[in-house]
Amino acid sequence: MTENPLFAPGFSTAPYWWEAAQPVPRSNGLPEQAAVAIVGGGYAGLSAALTLCRLGHRPVVLDAERIGWGASSRNGGMVSGGLKVLGKTLGGKLAPEKIQAITAAAAASFPFLEELLAREGIDCDYRRSGRFNPAYTPRHYAAQAARAPKLAEITGMPVYMVPRERQHEALGSDHYFGGMVTEASGSLHPGKYARGLAEAAERAGALLVDETRVQGIRREGSGFRLATSRGEIRADAVLVTTNGYSKQPDGGSAMPWLAKRMIPVGSYIIATEELPAETIDRLFPGRRMVGDSKRVLNYFRPAPDSNRVLWGGRASFSPTTPEQAAPVLHRMMREVFPELGSVKLTHSWTGNVAFTFDFLPHIGVEEGIHYAAGCQGSGVAMASWLGHNVALKLAGAANQRFALDGLPFPTPPGYGGTPWFLPFVGGWYRLRDKIDRMMAA
Ligand SMILES: Cc1cc2nc3c(=O)[nH]c(=O)nc-3n(C[C@H](O)[C@H](O)[C@H](O)COP(=O)(O)OP(=O)(O)OC[C@H]3O[C@@H](n4cnc5c(N)ncnc54)[C@H](O)[C@@H]3O)c2cc1C
Repeated sequence: MTENPLFAPGFSTAPYWWEAAQPVPRSNGLPEQAAVAIVGGGYAGLSAALTLCRLGHRPVVLDAERIGWGASSRNGGMVSGGLKVLGKTLGGKLAPEKIQAITAAAAASFPFLEELLAREGIDCDYRRSGRFNPAYTPRHYAAQAARAPKLAEITGMPVYMVPRERQHEALGSDHYFGGMVTEASGSLHPGKYARGLAEAAERAGALLVDETRVQGIRREGSGFRLATSRGEIRADAVLVTTNGYSKQPDGGSAMPWLAKRMIPVGSYIIATEELPAETIDRLFPGRRMVGDSKRVLNYFRPAPDSNRVLWGGRASFSPTTPEQAAPVLHRMMREVFPELGSVKLTHSWTGNVAFTFDFLPHIGVEEGIHYAAGCQGSGVAMASWLGHNVALKLAGAANQRFALDGLPFPTPPGYGGTPWFLPFVGGWYRLRDKIDRMMAA
Protein backbone atom coordinates (compact mmCIF):
# COMPACT_ATOMS: atom_id res chain seq x y z
CA MET A 1 0.00 0.00 0.00
CA THR A 2 2.77 2.42 1.04
CA GLU A 3 6.54 2.29 0.72
CA ASN A 4 7.16 2.68 4.47
CA PRO A 5 9.99 0.23 5.35
CA LEU A 6 8.11 -0.76 8.52
CA PHE A 7 5.26 -2.18 6.48
CA ALA A 8 5.35 -5.83 5.39
CA PRO A 9 4.22 -6.68 1.85
CA GLY A 10 0.41 -6.61 1.73
CA PHE A 11 0.21 -4.20 4.70
CA SER A 12 -3.46 -3.41 5.42
CA THR A 13 -5.36 -0.74 7.33
CA ALA A 14 -8.31 -3.11 7.94
CA PRO A 15 -8.38 -4.74 11.40
CA TYR A 16 -6.25 -7.88 11.69
CA TRP A 17 -9.40 -9.55 13.10
CA TRP A 18 -11.16 -9.15 9.79
CA GLU A 19 -8.75 -11.67 8.20
CA ALA A 20 -10.66 -14.42 10.04
CA ALA A 21 -13.95 -12.69 10.75
CA GLN A 22 -14.80 -9.70 8.61
CA PRO A 23 -18.31 -8.39 9.37
CA VAL A 24 -20.54 -10.07 6.81
CA PRO A 25 -23.12 -8.29 4.62
CA ARG A 26 -26.79 -9.08 5.20
CA SER A 27 -29.63 -8.85 2.74
CA ASN A 28 -32.50 -8.23 5.17
CA GLY A 29 -34.80 -5.38 4.17
CA LEU A 30 -36.11 -2.74 6.57
CA PRO A 31 -39.44 -3.85 8.05
CA GLU A 32 -42.22 -1.29 8.56
CA GLN A 33 -42.69 -2.17 12.20
CA ALA A 34 -40.67 -3.51 15.15
CA ALA A 35 -41.46 -4.26 18.77
CA VAL A 36 -38.02 -2.94 19.71
CA ALA A 37 -35.68 -1.11 17.34
CA ILE A 38 -32.05 -1.26 18.43
CA VAL A 39 -29.78 1.36 16.88
CA GLY A 40 -26.18 0.06 16.72
CA GLY A 41 -25.10 -3.51 16.01
CA GLY A 42 -22.09 -3.85 18.33
CA TYR A 43 -21.77 -5.99 21.45
CA ALA A 44 -24.24 -3.80 23.39
CA GLY A 45 -26.97 -3.85 20.75
CA LEU A 46 -26.50 -7.53 19.89
CA SER A 47 -26.40 -8.65 23.51
CA ALA A 48 -29.58 -6.65 24.18
CA ALA A 49 -31.19 -8.25 21.14
CA LEU A 50 -30.30 -11.74 22.34
CA THR A 51 -31.72 -11.13 25.81
CA LEU A 52 -34.89 -9.60 24.37
CA CYS A 53 -35.37 -12.68 22.18
CA ARG A 54 -34.93 -14.95 25.20
CA LEU A 55 -37.69 -12.94 26.88
CA GLY A 56 -40.02 -13.52 23.95
CA HIS A 57 -39.58 -10.28 21.97
CA ARG A 58 -38.43 -9.96 18.37
CA PRO A 59 -36.13 -6.94 18.10
CA VAL A 60 -34.76 -5.38 14.92
CA VAL A 61 -31.11 -4.30 15.06
CA LEU A 62 -30.14 -1.48 12.69
CA ASP A 63 -26.55 -0.56 11.89
CA ALA A 64 -25.31 2.20 9.62
CA GLU A 65 -22.53 -0.12 8.43
CA ARG A 66 -22.31 -3.90 8.63
CA ILE A 67 -23.36 -5.54 11.90
CA GLY A 68 -20.31 -5.55 14.20
CA TRP A 69 -18.43 -2.98 12.10
CA GLY A 70 -17.65 -0.58 15.01
CA ALA A 71 -15.36 -0.99 18.03
CA SER A 72 -16.75 -4.48 18.54
CA SER A 73 -14.71 -5.96 15.67
CA ARG A 74 -11.71 -3.66 16.11
CA ASN A 75 -10.76 -3.90 19.78
CA GLY A 76 -7.88 -5.60 21.59
CA GLY A 77 -9.99 -8.57 22.72
CA MET A 78 -8.98 -8.15 26.37
CA VAL A 79 -11.77 -9.20 28.68
CA SER A 80 -11.20 -7.08 31.73
CA GLY A 81 -14.36 -7.65 33.68
CA GLY A 82 -15.05 -4.04 34.56
CA LEU A 83 -11.72 -3.53 36.26
CA LYS A 84 -11.42 -0.03 34.88
CA VAL A 85 -14.66 0.93 36.58
CA LEU A 86 -13.45 -0.75 39.73
CA GLY A 87 -10.22 1.22 39.66
CA LYS A 88 -12.04 4.47 39.09
CA THR A 89 -14.77 4.11 41.61
CA LEU A 90 -12.52 2.70 44.29
CA GLY A 91 -10.56 5.95 44.20
CA GLY A 92 -13.61 8.13 43.50
CA LYS A 93 -15.86 10.36 45.51
CA LEU A 94 -19.12 8.40 45.41
CA ALA A 95 -20.94 7.32 48.56
CA PRO A 96 -19.54 4.02 49.89
CA GLU A 97 -22.75 2.05 49.32
CA LYS A 98 -22.95 3.35 45.73
CA ILE A 99 -19.33 2.40 45.13
CA GLN A 100 -20.06 -1.05 46.46
CA ALA A 101 -23.08 -1.48 44.19
CA ILE A 102 -21.23 -0.22 41.10
CA THR A 103 -18.15 -2.34 41.73
CA ALA A 104 -20.28 -5.43 42.22
CA ALA A 105 -22.24 -4.66 39.03
CA ALA A 106 -19.02 -4.06 37.07
CA ALA A 107 -17.32 -7.21 38.35
CA ALA A 108 -20.38 -9.24 37.37
CA SER A 109 -19.70 -8.45 33.70
CA PHE A 110 -16.86 -11.01 33.65
CA PRO A 111 -18.78 -14.14 34.72
CA PHE A 112 -21.67 -12.91 32.56
CA LEU A 113 -19.48 -12.92 29.46
CA GLU A 114 -17.98 -16.33 30.23
CA GLU A 115 -21.43 -17.76 30.77
CA LEU A 116 -22.79 -16.14 27.58
CA LEU A 117 -19.97 -17.58 25.44
CA ALA A 118 -20.46 -21.05 26.90
CA ARG A 119 -24.27 -21.00 26.72
CA GLU A 120 -24.42 -19.77 23.14
CA GLY A 121 -21.46 -21.90 22.03
CA ILE A 122 -19.64 -18.87 20.60
CA ASP A 123 -16.28 -19.99 19.25
CA CYS A 124 -14.04 -16.92 19.58
CA ASP A 125 -10.72 -18.28 20.92
CA TYR A 126 -11.76 -17.36 24.47
CA ARG A 127 -9.22 -18.17 27.22
CA ARG A 128 -9.21 -17.18 30.86
CA SER A 129 -5.71 -15.89 30.25
CA GLY A 130 -5.36 -13.46 33.15
CA ARG A 131 -3.95 -9.99 32.78
CA PHE A 132 -0.66 -8.31 33.74
CA ASN A 133 -0.64 -4.58 34.51
CA PRO A 134 3.01 -3.50 34.48
CA ALA A 135 3.79 -0.43 36.60
CA TYR A 136 5.28 2.56 34.78
CA THR A 137 6.75 3.95 38.00
CA PRO A 138 7.51 2.59 41.49
CA ARG A 139 4.64 4.74 42.79
CA HIS A 140 2.24 3.03 40.42
CA TYR A 141 3.52 -0.30 41.72
CA ALA A 142 2.87 0.76 45.32
CA ALA A 143 -0.65 1.95 44.40
CA GLN A 144 -1.38 -1.37 42.69
CA ALA A 145 -0.12 -3.30 45.70
CA ALA A 146 -2.44 -1.29 47.96
CA ARG A 147 -5.40 -1.98 45.64
CA ALA A 148 -4.72 -5.68 44.99
CA PRO A 149 -6.46 -7.17 48.08
CA LYS A 150 -9.64 -5.21 47.37
CA LEU A 151 -9.65 -6.30 43.74
CA ALA A 152 -9.19 -9.91 44.82
CA GLU A 153 -12.13 -9.56 47.21
CA ILE A 154 -14.38 -8.01 44.55
CA THR A 155 -13.52 -10.40 41.74
CA GLY A 156 -13.29 -13.45 43.97
CA MET A 157 -10.15 -14.54 42.10
CA PRO A 158 -6.44 -14.17 42.81
CA VAL A 159 -4.73 -10.83 42.31
CA TYR A 160 -1.01 -10.73 43.07
CA MET A 161 2.03 -8.54 42.64
CA VAL A 162 5.12 -9.43 40.62
CA PRO A 163 8.12 -7.35 41.77
CA ARG A 164 10.58 -5.89 39.28
CA GLU A 165 13.27 -8.49 39.95
CA ARG A 166 10.80 -11.24 38.91
CA GLN A 167 9.16 -9.26 36.12
CA HIS A 168 10.31 -11.66 33.39
CA GLU A 169 7.98 -14.26 34.90
CA ALA A 170 5.11 -12.06 33.67
CA LEU A 171 6.57 -10.01 30.80
CA GLY A 172 9.73 -10.27 28.71
CA SER A 173 10.72 -6.65 29.25
CA ASP A 174 12.83 -4.50 31.60
CA HIS A 175 10.82 -1.40 30.84
CA TYR A 176 8.56 -1.49 33.89
CA PHE A 177 8.81 -1.55 37.69
CA GLY A 178 7.01 -4.85 38.29
CA GLY A 179 3.25 -5.07 38.17
CA MET A 180 0.00 -6.75 39.11
CA VAL A 181 -1.51 -10.00 37.82
CA THR A 182 -5.31 -10.24 37.82
CA GLU A 183 -6.73 -13.69 37.22
CA ALA A 184 -10.33 -12.52 36.64
CA SER A 185 -9.46 -11.59 33.07
CA GLY A 186 -9.60 -13.28 29.73
CA SER A 187 -8.83 -12.90 26.06
CA LEU A 188 -10.76 -13.52 22.88
CA HIS A 189 -10.86 -12.83 19.15
CA PRO A 190 -13.16 -9.79 18.98
CA GLY A 191 -14.14 -10.27 15.34
CA LYS A 192 -15.21 -13.85 15.98
CA TYR A 193 -17.06 -12.77 19.12
CA ALA A 194 -18.96 -10.04 17.22
CA ARG A 195 -19.85 -12.48 14.47
CA GLY A 196 -20.81 -15.25 16.90
CA LEU A 197 -22.97 -12.92 19.00
CA ALA A 198 -24.75 -11.69 15.87
CA GLU A 199 -25.42 -15.28 14.80
CA ALA A 200 -26.69 -16.16 18.29
CA ALA A 201 -29.07 -13.18 18.23
CA GLU A 202 -30.30 -14.19 14.76
CA ARG A 203 -30.80 -17.81 15.82
CA ALA A 204 -32.84 -16.58 18.77
CA GLY A 205 -35.09 -14.57 16.45
CA ALA A 206 -33.61 -11.06 16.07
CA LEU A 207 -33.70 -9.39 12.67
CA LEU A 208 -30.36 -7.77 11.81
CA VAL A 209 -30.48 -5.02 9.20
CA ASP A 210 -27.23 -3.46 8.06
CA GLU A 211 -26.29 -0.43 5.90
CA THR A 212 -29.19 1.47 7.48
CA ARG A 213 -28.32 4.70 9.23
CA VAL A 214 -30.87 6.04 11.71
CA GLN A 215 -31.16 9.78 11.08
CA GLY A 216 -33.77 10.74 13.63
CA ILE A 217 -36.19 9.31 16.20
CA ARG A 218 -39.50 10.97 17.00
CA ARG A 219 -42.46 10.08 19.17
CA GLU A 220 -45.55 8.73 17.43
CA GLY A 221 -48.53 7.80 19.60
CA SER A 222 -47.36 5.38 22.26
CA GLY A 223 -44.29 4.44 20.20
CA PHE A 224 -41.66 5.95 17.94
CA ARG A 225 -40.95 6.54 14.28
CA LEU A 226 -37.36 6.25 13.10
CA ALA A 227 -36.16 7.98 9.94
CA THR A 228 -33.37 5.98 8.30
CA SER A 229 -31.26 6.11 5.16
CA ARG A 230 -33.53 3.34 3.79
CA GLY A 231 -36.93 4.70 4.76
CA GLU A 232 -38.96 4.78 7.97
CA ILE A 233 -39.69 2.19 10.61
CA ARG A 234 -42.18 2.33 13.48
CA ALA A 235 -41.19 0.82 16.83
CA ASP A 236 -42.94 0.33 20.16
CA ALA A 237 -39.61 0.89 21.96
CA VAL A 238 -36.16 2.11 20.96
CA LEU A 239 -32.70 1.34 22.34
CA VAL A 240 -29.65 3.33 21.19
CA THR A 241 -26.20 1.70 21.48
CA THR A 242 -24.10 3.83 19.15
CA ASN A 243 -21.31 4.44 21.73
CA GLY A 244 -18.14 5.97 20.18
CA TYR A 245 -19.94 6.46 16.86
CA SER A 246 -22.87 8.43 18.31
CA LYS A 247 -21.92 11.56 16.41
CA GLN A 248 -21.37 11.18 12.70
CA PRO A 249 -18.59 13.06 10.90
CA ASP A 250 -21.28 15.18 9.16
CA GLY A 251 -22.65 16.23 12.58
CA GLY A 252 -25.75 14.02 12.47
CA SER A 253 -26.75 11.61 15.24
CA ALA A 254 -29.50 9.10 15.92
CA MET A 255 -29.76 10.51 19.46
CA PRO A 256 -28.10 13.93 19.90
CA TRP A 257 -28.73 13.81 23.68
CA LEU A 258 -26.52 10.73 23.94
CA ALA A 259 -23.88 12.09 21.54
CA LYS A 260 -23.49 15.09 23.86
CA ARG A 261 -22.54 12.72 26.66
CA MET A 262 -19.99 10.67 24.73
CA ILE A 263 -16.33 11.58 24.28
CA PRO A 264 -15.27 9.55 21.22
CA VAL A 265 -11.55 8.78 21.26
CA GLY A 266 -9.68 7.03 18.45
CA SER A 267 -7.67 4.04 19.59
CA TYR A 268 -5.09 2.41 17.30
CA ILE A 269 -3.65 -1.09 17.04
CA ILE A 270 -0.80 -2.58 14.99
CA ALA A 271 -0.14 -6.25 14.23
CA THR A 272 3.37 -7.55 13.63
CA GLU A 273 4.32 -10.17 11.11
CA GLU A 274 4.48 -13.75 12.44
CA LEU A 275 7.23 -14.35 14.99
CA PRO A 276 8.70 -17.61 16.31
CA ALA A 277 6.45 -19.15 18.98
CA GLU A 278 9.41 -19.09 21.43
CA THR A 279 9.66 -15.31 21.06
CA ILE A 280 5.97 -14.89 21.91
CA ASP A 281 6.29 -17.22 24.91
CA ARG A 282 9.31 -15.31 26.17
CA LEU A 283 7.68 -11.88 25.74
CA PHE A 284 4.30 -13.02 27.09
CA PRO A 285 4.82 -15.83 29.64
CA GLY A 286 1.43 -17.49 30.06
CA ARG A 287 0.20 -15.44 27.06
CA ARG A 288 -1.59 -13.00 29.35
CA MET A 289 -3.15 -9.72 28.27
CA VAL A 290 -1.10 -6.64 29.16
CA GLY A 291 -2.17 -3.05 29.87
CA ASP A 292 0.33 -0.72 31.51
CA SER A 293 -0.33 1.82 34.24
CA LYS A 294 0.31 4.99 32.22
CA ARG A 295 -2.41 7.63 31.96
CA VAL A 296 -2.13 7.26 28.18
CA LEU A 297 -1.84 3.52 28.34
CA ASN A 298 -0.27 0.92 26.07
CA TYR A 299 -2.17 -2.34 25.78
CA PHE A 300 -0.66 -5.34 24.07
CA ARG A 301 -1.08 -9.07 23.66
CA PRO A 302 -0.19 -12.06 21.56
CA ALA A 303 -2.73 -12.80 18.83
CA PRO A 304 -5.00 -15.72 19.76
CA ASP A 305 -4.68 -17.42 16.38
CA SER A 306 -1.11 -16.71 15.25
CA ASN A 307 2.29 -15.80 16.70
CA ARG A 308 2.02 -12.03 16.30
CA VAL A 309 2.19 -9.16 18.74
CA LEU A 310 -0.81 -6.85 18.70
CA TRP A 311 0.08 -3.47 20.17
CA GLY A 312 -2.51 -0.81 20.94
CA GLY A 313 -2.52 2.72 22.23
CA ARG A 314 -3.49 6.31 21.68
CA ALA A 315 -1.07 7.08 18.87
CA SER A 316 -2.57 10.54 18.51
CA PHE A 317 -5.27 12.69 20.08
CA SER A 318 -5.72 14.62 16.83
CA PRO A 319 -7.30 13.11 13.74
CA THR A 320 -4.75 10.84 12.05
CA THR A 321 -4.66 7.76 9.82
CA PRO A 322 -3.72 4.18 10.74
CA GLU A 323 -0.71 4.55 8.40
CA GLN A 324 0.52 7.59 10.31
CA ALA A 325 -0.23 5.95 13.66
CA ALA A 326 1.72 2.77 12.84
CA PRO A 327 5.27 4.17 13.22
CA VAL A 328 4.28 5.87 16.50
CA LEU A 329 2.97 2.59 17.93
CA HIS A 330 5.99 0.71 16.57
CA ARG A 331 8.28 3.10 18.47
CA MET A 332 6.25 2.54 21.68
CA MET A 333 6.52 -1.22 21.15
CA ARG A 334 10.32 -1.01 20.64
CA GLU A 335 10.70 0.90 23.92
CA VAL A 336 9.15 -2.06 25.75
CA PHE A 337 10.46 -4.86 23.54
CA PRO A 338 13.76 -3.64 21.99
CA GLU A 339 14.21 -7.00 20.26
CA LEU A 340 11.21 -6.20 18.03
CA GLY A 341 13.05 -3.20 16.56
CA SER A 342 13.21 -4.59 13.02
CA VAL A 343 9.92 -6.49 13.04
CA LYS A 344 7.56 -5.40 10.27
CA LEU A 345 3.85 -4.65 10.51
CA THR A 346 1.12 -6.36 8.55
CA HIS A 347 -1.85 -4.33 9.88
CA SER A 348 -2.62 -0.98 11.48
CA TRP A 349 -6.17 0.07 12.18
CA THR A 350 -8.33 2.28 14.35
CA GLY A 351 -11.70 2.41 16.04
CA ASN A 352 -13.59 4.71 18.39
CA VAL A 353 -13.97 4.09 22.10
CA ALA A 354 -16.37 6.22 24.17
CA PHE A 355 -15.48 7.93 27.42
CA THR A 356 -17.99 9.77 29.60
CA PHE A 357 -17.49 12.85 31.71
CA ASP A 358 -17.88 10.86 34.94
CA PHE A 359 -15.79 7.92 33.63
CA LEU A 360 -18.67 5.50 34.20
CA PRO A 361 -20.70 3.37 31.77
CA HIS A 362 -24.43 4.16 31.73
CA ILE A 363 -27.78 2.67 30.91
CA GLY A 364 -31.00 4.64 31.22
CA VAL A 365 -33.97 6.23 29.47
CA GLU A 366 -34.25 9.75 28.05
CA GLU A 367 -37.59 10.93 26.67
CA GLY A 368 -38.67 7.32 26.41
CA ILE A 369 -35.57 6.22 24.44
CA HIS A 370 -33.35 3.65 26.14
CA TYR A 371 -29.58 3.83 25.86
CA ALA A 372 -26.51 1.82 26.91
CA ALA A 373 -23.07 3.31 26.32
CA GLY A 374 -19.76 4.63 27.62
CA CYS A 375 -17.45 1.73 28.44
CA GLN A 376 -14.27 3.87 28.69
CA GLY A 377 -12.38 1.71 26.20
CA SER A 378 -13.05 -1.44 28.20
CA GLY A 379 -16.26 -2.84 26.81
CA VAL A 380 -15.85 -6.40 25.59
CA ALA A 381 -17.50 -7.73 28.73
CA MET A 382 -19.05 -4.44 29.89
CA ALA A 383 -20.89 -3.46 26.68
CA SER A 384 -22.29 -7.00 26.47
CA TRP A 385 -23.38 -6.73 30.11
CA LEU A 386 -24.92 -3.27 29.66
CA GLY A 387 -26.87 -4.58 26.66
CA HIS A 388 -28.20 -7.48 28.70
CA ASN A 389 -29.23 -5.25 31.59
CA VAL A 390 -30.88 -2.59 29.45
CA ALA A 391 -32.83 -5.37 27.72
CA LEU A 392 -34.04 -6.72 31.07
CA LYS A 393 -35.16 -3.22 32.01
CA LEU A 394 -36.84 -2.62 28.68
CA ALA A 395 -38.75 -5.87 28.93
CA GLY A 396 -39.70 -5.20 32.55
CA ALA A 397 -37.82 -8.33 33.59
CA ALA A 398 -35.16 -6.86 35.90
CA ASN A 399 -35.39 -8.27 39.42
CA GLN A 400 -33.50 -5.37 40.90
CA ARG A 401 -32.18 -2.01 39.77
CA PHE A 402 -28.85 -2.24 37.94
CA ALA A 403 -26.28 -0.03 39.67
CA LEU A 404 -25.26 1.76 36.45
CA ASP A 405 -28.90 2.52 35.54
CA GLY A 406 -30.20 6.08 35.66
CA LEU A 407 -27.13 7.68 37.22
CA PRO A 408 -26.77 11.41 36.63
CA PHE A 409 -25.21 11.60 33.16
CA PRO A 410 -23.16 14.80 33.01
CA THR A 411 -22.16 16.89 30.00
CA PRO A 412 -20.52 20.31 30.14
CA PRO A 413 -22.41 23.34 28.80
CA GLY A 414 -21.84 23.91 25.10
CA TYR A 415 -20.46 20.42 24.38
CA GLY A 416 -22.06 18.90 21.29
CA GLY A 417 -20.23 15.58 20.98
CA THR A 418 -17.06 16.68 19.16
CA PRO A 419 -14.17 16.54 21.64
CA TRP A 420 -12.13 19.55 20.44
CA PHE A 421 -10.30 19.51 23.79
CA LEU A 422 -8.72 16.07 23.33
CA PRO A 423 -5.35 17.23 21.93
CA PHE A 424 -4.93 19.48 24.99
CA VAL A 425 -6.11 16.98 27.61
CA GLY A 426 -4.26 14.10 25.91
CA GLY A 427 -1.09 16.20 25.68
CA TRP A 428 -1.38 17.08 29.37
CA TYR A 429 -1.78 13.40 30.32
CA ARG A 430 1.24 12.47 28.21
CA LEU A 431 3.29 15.20 29.86
CA ARG A 432 2.30 13.97 33.31
CA ASP A 433 3.31 10.42 32.32
CA LYS A 434 6.71 11.75 31.24
CA ILE A 435 7.17 13.73 34.45
CA ASP A 436 6.20 10.73 36.59
CA ARG A 437 8.73 8.62 34.76
CA MET A 438 11.50 11.23 35.07
CA MET A 439 10.85 11.48 38.81
CA ALA A 440 11.11 7.68 39.02
CA ALA A 441 14.54 7.59 37.37
C1 LIG B 1 -9.00 -0.02 19.03
C2 LIG B 1 -9.86 -0.44 20.20
C3 LIG B 1 -9.34 -1.29 21.18
C4 LIG B 1 -10.14 -1.70 22.25
N1 LIG B 1 -9.67 -2.66 23.10
C5 LIG B 1 -10.49 -3.17 24.05
C6 LIG B 1 -10.06 -4.27 24.83
O1 LIG B 1 -8.99 -4.83 24.63
N2 LIG B 1 -10.90 -4.71 25.81
C7 LIG B 1 -12.12 -4.14 26.03
O2 LIG B 1 -12.84 -4.57 26.94
N3 LIG B 1 -12.57 -3.13 25.25
C8 LIG B 1 -11.79 -2.64 24.26
N4 LIG B 1 -12.25 -1.65 23.44
C9 LIG B 1 -13.61 -1.12 23.68
C10 LIG B 1 -14.71 -2.03 23.13
O3 LIG B 1 -14.40 -2.43 21.83
C11 LIG B 1 -16.03 -1.23 23.14
O4 LIG B 1 -16.27 -0.76 24.45
C12 LIG B 1 -17.23 -2.06 22.69
O5 LIG B 1 -16.97 -2.74 21.49
C13 LIG B 1 -18.41 -1.14 22.53
O6 LIG B 1 -19.48 -1.87 21.96
P1 LIG B 1 -20.78 -1.08 21.52
O7 LIG B 1 -21.74 -2.06 21.04
O8 LIG B 1 -21.20 -0.17 22.63
O9 LIG B 1 -20.29 -0.09 20.35
P2 LIG B 1 -19.74 -0.38 18.86
O10 LIG B 1 -19.22 -1.74 18.69
O11 LIG B 1 -18.82 0.75 18.51
O12 LIG B 1 -21.06 -0.29 17.97
C14 LIG B 1 -21.72 0.93 17.69
C15 LIG B 1 -22.41 0.75 16.34
O13 LIG B 1 -23.34 1.81 16.17
C16 LIG B 1 -23.44 2.02 14.78
N5 LIG B 1 -24.07 3.33 14.56
C17 LIG B 1 -23.63 4.56 14.92
N6 LIG B 1 -24.52 5.49 14.57
C18 LIG B 1 -25.55 4.86 13.96
C19 LIG B 1 -26.78 5.30 13.39
N7 LIG B 1 -27.12 6.60 13.34
N8 LIG B 1 -27.61 4.37 12.84
C20 LIG B 1 -27.30 3.05 12.88
N9 LIG B 1 -26.14 2.60 13.41
C21 LIG B 1 -25.29 3.49 13.95
C22 LIG B 1 -22.00 1.94 14.29
O14 LIG B 1 -21.92 1.68 12.89
C23 LIG B 1 -21.45 0.82 15.15
O15 LIG B 1 -21.43 -0.42 14.47
C24 LIG B 1 -11.48 -1.20 22.38
C25 LIG B 1 -11.99 -0.34 21.40
C26 LIG B 1 -11.20 0.04 20.31
C27 LIG B 1 -11.78 0.93 19.28
